[in-house]
Amino acid sequence: MAIQKTEGILLRKAHLRETSLILTFYTRDFGKIKGIVRGVRGPRGSCGGANMEIFALDGLVFYERKRSDIFTISQCDLLDFFGPVRASLEKLAYAAYLAELMDSVTALGDKNTEAFDLLLNSLKLLAGECSSKRVARIFEIKLLHLLGLMPTLEICANCGDKVDGPARFSFRHGGLICKKCLQSDREARPILQGTIKFIEHIRLLPYERVARIKVASEVGHELERTLRKFLDYHIERRLKTVEFLKVVVR
Ligand SMILES: [Zn+2]
Repeated sequence: MAIQKTEGILLRKAHLRETSLILTFYTRDFGKIKGIVRGVRGPRGSCGGANMEIFALDGLVFYERKRSDIFTISQCDLLDFFGPVRASLEKLAYAAYLAELMDSVTALGDKNTEAFDLLLNSLKLLAGECSSKRVARIFEIKLLHLLGLMPTLEICANCGDKVDGPARFSFRHGGLICKKCLQSDREARPILQGTIKFIEHIRLLPYERVARIKVASEVGHELERTLRKFLDYHIERRLKTVEFLKVVVR
């Protein structure tokens, strides 16, 4: 593999020996990659610059190491620090959550340019006027959609029949279930039509339009709870930032 260049958003960093870091980026051209950066820790314990802060957008130059899926990163230049996001503890907590969620649902080397754009655009929205909660819901739904993990909402997730009457949402089956299938999941819970509609809006509409849609607060709360549980059900690892968000955001 020759020397490669791309843009990446930093998802995670870990220390490696005295002066090196292992950085995990979601890149535009190579999906998620891991790379070593050497000589970044100074004598006073300083450790990389703004380019090595979580969710920074960097221009990267990297190349392959022998017998390893961890690259050597030879250049890492800051392109966007998302300053307004870092100026607010709430926005910062949400941005860290987006980075952790992205890391937990993607595998090394699976290229998905749309997923890269989704993370980048979500950070830009977060830096603007859009509410942090709305950005998180947009990111969650569009990411599930891009990864083919969307809940089934058009038909029964268990038998495939049309769902008539008040809907129930089953985490086990991954979507709405019909009356006949209620027996198969006693824990399926009622869900508002407004919430189902809002999920579809977020999936289909561009970011800017979704950011402006007004919804009833019970729809917002129900969507947040439903997505949280749906993601927990489908992600094996518990996300640390979810606990942090509970502390930061009432
Ligand atoms: Zn059914």
